Amino acid sequence: MPDITICPTCGSDKIKKVQRDLAREFQGQSYTVPALEFYECPNCGERFYDREAVQKMQACSPAFAKPQTQRARAKARVPITAGARAAA
Ligand SMILES: [Zn+2]
Repeated sequence: MPDITICPTCGSDKIKKVQRDLAREFQGQSYTVPALEFYECPNCGERFYDREAVQKMQACSPAFAKPQTQRARAKARVPITAGARAAA
């Protein structure tokens, strides 16, 4: 993926790549992606994530940790109906 040089949202050419800890939230559960590199537009505040950044976020996100938990439960033959319904 080529570097983003112009903000797709506002057209500013001031967009730049930054690296910082990114605090995010998923279904009320907050988590931090440490030292994440992403693009930020100082003009409109929009943030853009390249493929690498998205993969890093997914690795830290509870949203993507969930299917692994369900697989582990299924393997252990524990009923998951109640938990799945509560989560949905
Ligand atoms: Zn912008």
